[in-house]
Amino acid sequence: MRAFVFNAQPSRVVFGAGSLEHLEREVQLLGASRALVLCTPEQQPLADAIAKRLGARAAGVFAKAVMHVPVETASAAIDEARRVNADCAMAVGGGSTTGLGKAIALQSNLPILAIPTTYAGSEMTPIWGITENGLKKTGRDARVLPRTVIYDPELTVSLPVGLSVTSGMNAIAHAAEGLYAQDSNPVMDLMAEEGIRALAAALPCVRLNPADIAARSDALYGAWLCGIVLGNVGMALHHKLCHTLGGTLNLPHAEVHTVVLPHAMAFNAQAAPEAMKKISRALKSDDAAHGLYQLAKDNGAPVALRDIGMKEADVARVAQLAVQNPYWNPRPVNADAEGDLRELLQRAWEGAVPVV
Ligand code: NAD
Repeated sequence: MRAFVFNAQPSRVVFGAGSLEHLEREVQLLGASRALVLCTPEQQPLADAIAKRLGARAAGVFAKAVMHVPVETASAAIDEARRVNADCAMAVGGGSTTGLGKAIALQSNLPILAIPTTYAGSEMTPIWGITENGLKKTGRDARVLPRTVIYDPELTVSLPVGLSVTSGMNAIAHAAEGLYAQDSNPVMDLMAEEGIRALAAALPCVRLNPADIAARSDALYGAWLCGIVLGNVGMALHHKLCHTLGGTLNLPHAEVHTVVLPHAMAFNAQAAPEAMKKISRALKSDDAAHGLYQLAKDNGAPVALRDIGMKEADVARVAQLAVQNPYWNPRPVNADAEGDLRELLQRAWEGAVPVV
């Protein structure tokens, strides 16, 4: 057994179909009496229903969450929390909404109660992000880790099949990179492999029947585990590429992860054989990169960057940016790697099978 450091993150998880019924109890346990309910404009009906059920414990609904937490939205939400004298930020939605809750917590120390409705995993991490003048600033702060998370798979039934698959692949990406993280530990390895296994088994069932609560429960359970891995250990080349693609070209978050992941795994395969063994075992595949590519393809997810809005002319620029301030990676990424990354991105752009 290698030496390691394990940091438990203090959050309470209430999991299970129908667990939203424990909402009032959980708000009380947090010692909160005026929750500001956050959501995207599209999810306002759900947020309104939650506020209604909270009655006097709801201080209002702020339905302006959008992707990447623009600083203007964060400021407006912070002002609203102050105006209504909120003592809790309740994030109902995906990573964008949880991100808005984190921006409030960062400024005001309000506790967050998160009710995730995608598989992005932000609710399990102390990582925040705020975008100003087109640049996303990120950081880690223990105050932004949600104190309580209610995972109710029934709330994910409405997540469209396409987004369910790509969001699930986004979760798998956290676990896959966690398996070769420099600062990983055996507990994270267990969670990562189990998270990938649960999601890989559940996504085909979700695609066939989006209302299958057993499959939705398994997928959300997998997403929870993958989120823990993201919150505990460092990410590498795959996340760097996705942040570069998302940040500079504004490509959709979950889809970018879905397309890039098999190629990033192929790039790292020889440098991280143990991780690849665990990923392929979890996928029940002979090869990690090919197994991930097939999982996306078989479930109707995009496998080509050209199909999600990227222009071929941007391949070289992204490769160039990705070697600047690189994250630690099992296969070193330095200026010499730019050509290899260009090839990786070219294949991902075309939707070609990953080359291990
Ligand atoms: P999202 O939160 O942007 O949601 C995508 C869309 O799906 C939105 O329109 C939303 O309203 C809708 N939606 C969500 N759940 C739904 C449901 N159950 N039914 C119907 N519609 C639903 O997408 P996301 O992929 O969850 O989050 C992406 C964002 O989260 C990115 O900005 C990413 O950087 C961030 N993120 C941060 C962390 C972190 O640790 N800080 C982790 C993962 C993702």
